[in-house]
This record gives sequence, C-alpha cells and structure tokens, in this order.
Amino acid sequence: MRQVAIYGKGGIGKSTTTQNTVAALAEAGKHIMVVGCDPKADSTRLLLNGLCQKTVLDTLRDEGDDIDLDDILKPGFKNTMCVESGGPEPGVGCAGRGIITSINMLESLGAYTSDLDYVFYDVLGDVVCGGFAMPIREGKAEEIYIVASGELMALYAANNIAKGIQKYAASGKVRLGGIICNSRKVDNELPLLKAFAEELGSQLIYFVPRDNVVQRAEINKKTVVHFEPEAGQAEEYRNLAKAIDENRLFVIPKPMTQDRLEELMMQHGFLDAIA
Ligand code: ADP
Ligand code: SF4
Ligand code: MG
Repeated sequence: MRQVAIYGKGGIGKSTTTQNTVAALAEAGKHIMVVGCDPKADSTRLLLNGLCQKTVLDTLRDEGDDIDLDDILKPGFKNTMCVESGGPEPGVGCAGRGIITSINMLESLGAYTSDLDYVFYDVLGDVVCGGFAMPIREGKAEEIYIVASGELMALYAANNIAKGIQKYAASGKVRLGGIICNSRKVDNELPLLKAFAEELGSQLIYFVPRDNVVQRAEINKKTVVHFEPEAGQAEEYRNLAKAIDENRLFVIPKPMTQDRLEELMMQHGFLDAIA
C-alpha cells in the first residue's frame, strides 16, 4: 500500500488534481482510499457526486467514540473509499491534531485494508505548522507531491512544504516524489517549474494544463475523468496518474532561500515585470 500526500497552497488545485488522479487510477483498476485533511472537507465531493460527507471529527463530536466505519467511509467513483477528517470547532482546537485523531480512528476501525493499493491524503499546506505536517510527522504519508504553479506565492508555499519534508525525512521514511504544476498560464511556467523542481533535487512529475472542462465537471459534481472521459484533460489526468504509479524518484528535498527563489523567477523571464 502506497501512502501518498498531496500538499500545496489553498486554492492551487489539490482537491481537483487529487480526485482526478484517483479517478484515473481507479479506472486502471487500483483500489484507493482518499482521506481529506482540509477543514473545508471538500476533498471527496467530486468522487461522491456531491454527496455531503459527514466528517470524522463531526461524527466523533456528535456520537462519541462508538462509531461505525460505514458512518465515515463512503464508496465513491469506481469504489474509491472516501473520508473527510474535517476540522475542529471554529476557534477551538488544532486542525492538525484533528487530522491525526481521524487517521487513528480510521486505523482502529480497520479502514486500512490490505487490498488497498493507495491511500491519498489531500492536505492543506499554506502554513506548514506542526499541525498540518502531522501526516508526515507521524509517518503516515511517505510519498509527497506538491501542487504548485508559476505564481510566486504558490512556489513560496511549495518551498516551505519542502522544508517541512526535509525536516522529517531525516528521522523517517518521508520523501518528495515530485512537483505537479497545475497551470495558471503564467509566462514561461513550464521551464520555471522544471527549474524549481530540479533545484529541490526533485522532478516536475507532470504539467496539468488549465482547462474550463474542470469547471464544467465541477458544477456537475464529477471529476473530468468521470464527466467527460473523452476530453483531452481527462487524458492529462490519466497521464499524471501513470507518472505517479510508475514513479521511482523519491528524494529528501533541498529547499532554497527566498532570495534564490526570486532569482529563479527572474531568470525565467520576470525581469521585465520587476524593472
Ligand atoms: P485546493 O484543494 O488546493 O484548495 P481546488 O482543487 O479546490 O484547490 O481548486 C480550486 C479551483 O480551481 C476549483 O474551483 C477548480 O475548479 C479550479 N481548478 C483546479 N485545477 C484546474 C485546472 N487544471 N483547470 C481549470 N480549473 C482548475
Ligand atoms: Fe492550527 Fe497549525 Fe496551530 Fe494546529 S499547529 S492550531 S493546525 S496553526
Ligand atoms: Mg481542497
């Protein structure tokens, strides 16, 4: 069983990319569990055709410890198993601790069955505080992909996430599997992202184009792979799924300084914008 975490700044496309990749892997016959680790609890919506999943933390609060696995784990597209950890009561408690409470609950209820090929964690990664690093710290997810784009803030967040991975890699098995570019159509985005990934000692594992079919599928509460299987974008997600499935490059990343990050952006054609 491969335990994969998808990190990246809020709004970058983690949930969209994760669910489409999972749908493509499921289409190829893999059995997968998706664990949403974002208090927004929208990591499995497209796999569940819009079904509003009750989160693990809400269920624990309402029903106490005595909960059935069926209450929190729902089958979605091609039998992918879907769960949302949810968040703490607003203003109270640590979201990161909530993630671990949820994972521990799933473990004790027997959700991690031996027939699973993959577990995907979709984790909010704006702040790489101790809380959101939990799936890495606790040795749950060992294979990390960071979703980024050519925008400075996306790369800034990605570099910080790489710092978090580097810290825990020394004492555990966590490794960076690559950077996924979810394109924002920024000038020179492909060479910039390639250079960024290489600077980290990693790879740009895939470049996902921006396409409005993602929005059309989303409004229909489906992944693109499900909604428009013939679309070019569905094929892009299948290729990303294949790249992850066949990936062999797992590294301890070498994050860069802020100055170096800005220098890298300037080398890729942003000099004019800054002058
Ligand atoms: P995150 O989970 O990182 O917060 P989401 O997956 O919810 O981000 O994506 C944010 C928005 O961006 C969504 O409304 C989605 O429709 C849109 N989006 C994501 N990827 C693409 C893409 N490749 N092309 C077009 N729109 C996209
Ligand atoms: Fe929130 Fe992170 Fe602090 Fe936990 S450690 S309370 S998730 S900021
Ligand atoms: Mg999300």
